[in-house]
Amino acid sequence: MEYPQKDSLKILIIASEVAPFAKVGGLADVVASLPPAFKDLGCDVAVYLPAYRQILDYLDNNYEVILRDLPVQIGSKLLNTDILKAELAPGIPLFLARQNFLFDRPEIYQGKYGEYTDNLERYIFFSRSLPLFCSAAHIAPDIILANDWHTGLVMPLLNQGAMPRSAGVFTIHNMGYLGLVPPNRIDSIGLPEEYYRTDGLEFYGQMSLLKAGIIYSQAVVTVSPTYAEEIQTPTFGAGLDGLMRWVKESLYGVLNGVDYQDWNPATDPHLTANYSPGNLYGKRLCKKDILIKMGISKEFHDKPLIGMVTRLVEQKGCHLVAEAADALFDLGLSLVVLGSGDKDYERLFSNLKKKYPKRFGLKLGYDSILARQIIAGSDMFLIPSLYEPCGLTQMYSLKYGTIPIVRATGGLSDTIIDPHEDLPATGFKFHQASVPELMKAVTRALQTFKKKTDWPIMQETGMKCDFSWEYSAKKYLTIFEKAISIRRGMSK
Ligand code: ADP
Repeated sequence: MEYPQKDSLKILIIASEVAPFAKVGGLADVVASLPPAFKDLGCDVAVYLPAYRQILDYLDNNYEVILRDLPVQIGSKLLNTDILKAELAPGIPLFLARQNFLFDRPEIYQGKYGEYTDNLERYIFFSRSLPLFCSAAHIAPDIILANDWHTGLVMPLLNQGAMPRSAGVFTIHNMGYLGLVPPNRIDSIGLPEEYYRTDGLEFYGQMSLLKAGIIYSQAVVTVSPTYAEEIQTPTFGAGLDGLMRWVKESLYGVLNGVDYQDWNPATDPHLTANYSPGNLYGKRLCKKDILIKMGISKEFHDKPLIGMVTRLVEQKGCHLVAEAADALFDLGLSLVVLGSGDKDYERLFSNLKKKYPKRFGLKLGYDSILARQIIAGSDMFLIPSLYEPCGLTQMYSLKYGTIPIVRATGGLSDTIIDPHEDLPATGFKFHQASVPELMKAVTRALQTFKKKTDWPIMQETGMKCDFSWEYSAKKYLTIFEKAISIRRGMSK
């Protein structure tokens, strides 16, 4: 047994991303900062990930090989994996499945030509390796916490009798990614026939690994209370809304938290200047810095600056921004965007840059330092998502005194208070995903920006908001208790 303490709750988190080593979106932040919160509450926690090239580079040989050549069945093939052990944070083991053919690649999910075509097989392999690794290493966690479609298959594997002591909890970070396995690749899943039914993995003629996680876990968590409600409706349920209504007694909405040791403008080493509530002089320097960095012409330096840091995908409402661009720039503001993702959106934004070279700053790509500098240096932060399970950037923006303008959906609804809803407000919301609604919210923000007392009050209110992990981690623990009692009842 690898865990240090004897009687505390033993949690193993399995996921496809972790910050800072292997980050694509918010999942990575969560997987990095939730374990220390569990540890602070007295739990023994460990994390299991694929040994991506990025992680091994980062670790620079600071790991030990604890198991060699574990054979994992994937379809008709056997592929071996080594298990490495490193440290995610002091006292938090990071176990890694090393399978170089599958995970020694330049990026996490996609290459030059789009998504890796064997992503299904990569994560089926990874999920199938978990019970084998636990059994070979004599690890028997009380809780296996799996995340999103990549690790959904773990739940039916537990259901099949692997690790009878371990209760399965499945967190949905994004319902939009179903992990669909087409009929000609079903063999690679390797479950008995009875799992391929409508009340199993079947999804309109295909199999869904997300559905596998939902159906066979003892509890399902999603990352905000509003999203937990939304996914029970056809608009947000991605075809699984009926299932979500069916499992609603064991469905919980727990807001993600923020690691304020990492995200704090008073200590952030990547900012030109640090600042804190009551003294925002440093924020002005950050604004100047980002305006210059993003190539905004000097004549616009005194104007309001809106920032965006986002994956460029449909979910994030990128088309709304592109459609609203003329009207936005008519308001006299400037806009800076850092993003990467779909090539169509990258093109759309590149064209916008050509049209508004002086007041539109664009950086295509992934840059975690620039992300912080934009969040710090902007006056407002725009998140026009069509849906947003939780969203982290609005919470980071609040802490950095940057006023969020958000579409009222999912976690954006739960974390931002609009002046129309209550006071003290922390940001601006719009409801319909339309250009006129977006423009109304931006216009309201600009009107408040001009008010030299209201704006700093709003900034300070946001900076003092507390979305730290402790509260959410405690909620997870009560869910874990319920899941354990269900599991232990099942295995009697
Ligand atoms: P999602 O997980 O849907 O992408 P979140 O708001 O939950 O959205 O989390 C996004 C995380 O990824 C944030 O930490 C954000 O700063 C970061 N991020 C997104 N795009 C980029 C990018 N192009 N460069 C750097 N960081 C990014």
